Amino acid sequence: MSNPSDWASKDFYKTLGVSKDASTDEIKKAYRRLARENHPDSNPGNKAAEERFKEVSEAYAVLSSAEKRKQYDEQRTLFGQFKGGFGGGGFGQPGGGYGGQNATDFDLSDLLGGIFGGGGRGGRRRPPQGRRGDDIETEATITFQQAVEGATLPLRMTSDEACPTCHGTGAKPGTVPKVCTKCQGSGMQTSASGGVFAMTEPCSQCRGRGLVVEHECATCRGTGRAPSSRTLQVRVPAGVKDGQKIRLKGKGGRGEGGAPDGDLFLLVHVEPHPMFGRKGDHLTITVPVAFDEAALGAQISVPTLDGPPVRLKVPAGTPSGRTFRAKGQGATTKAGTRGDLLVTVEVQVPTDLDDAQRAAVEALRQARGAATPRDGLFEEVGSA
Ligand SMILES: [Zn+2]
Ligand SMILES: [Zn+2]
Repeated sequence: MSNPSDWASKDFYKTLGVSKDASTDEIKKAYRRLARENHPDSNPGNKAAEERFKEVSEAYAVLSSAEKRKQYDEQRTLFGQFKGGFGGGGFGQPGGGYGGQNATDFDLSDLLGGIFGGGGRGGRRRPPQGRRGDDIETEATITFQQAVEGATLPLRMTSDEACPTCHGTGAKPGTVPKVCTKCQGSGMQTSASGGVFAMTEPCSQCRGRGLVVEHECATCRGTGRAPSSRTLQVRVPAGVKDGQKIRLKGKGGRGEGGAPDGDLFLLVHVEPHPMFGRKGDHLTITVPVAFDEAALGAQISVPTLDGPPVRLKVPAGTPSGRTFRAKGQGATTKAGTRGDLLVTVEVQVPTDLDDAQRAAVEALRQARGAATPRDGLFEEVGSA
């Protein structure tokens, strides 16, 4: 019911009979009273009351939510400028919202295009007061490798923009919307059934828009808006971390009336890699080595993220957990240099020895004799 695209044409404050800076409490009270008065149960068969009940409910649904109310206020501010220019008998009146500019500088599509966004971009004159484009938040998941190397992602953005056929007027090309005869373009009407005090409501003929489209644009069916999607190529820099938010200036919602475009905030999720980890610009990997490799020394082959394996010399007597550094095999830094690959070796204890291996280990035990690696512990304790 309260589709944000309708908000510009509805004055929810008037519907509830409260001022624009009314507190949440005042809004609630006004709603309760009006809802009670117009409730279908107490007005059986009364279509007007039913209609009013719906309007009141819709107004309350929006104004009772702080977030929706804010959005609504922003849209109304915008619409107010438009109506200001239109109402009061003509364009360019002092205080009409486009103060200081000559009315003849505008044609209708400029005016409406500027309001509904998108139309009239580039080169044309614009009203001096615009509305900055919305900041948009979106998310993307990238692979570990893309995070390391940086990536260009195609991001499909959808938003409501001015209808490309009618440039936001809602009227069939070649025609323009007519100023509403019922409200003379003010968008408001005074209701007859207001009781003690007259109620001002959105005009029923133009639904508060102030304009009536006689020949609807076929593309947007007279709404002036059309969902538009564009694909942005977004560069995610090398070294981005999981959970990081990237701000892309000017890639958000379109600014209106000459105001700057909003920003796009991209929340990046990075898929973990089964083998590699990250430590700043360095990549990490843990590789298993056999006991004899650690004891006697070995040349081992270690995989890299994006190139051929590197050869690493494990010196004789390497303990489990020692970390070696393969220079330049890590992530690309902002400066364009590369971090290192930090290789941690983990000495594996065999669990499935065949006969020959068992014999060899037995022989090692024999050769060790009575000495154990723990002998030093007792010497330390004894001397204390
Ligand atoms: Zn259209
Ligand atoms: Zn009207």
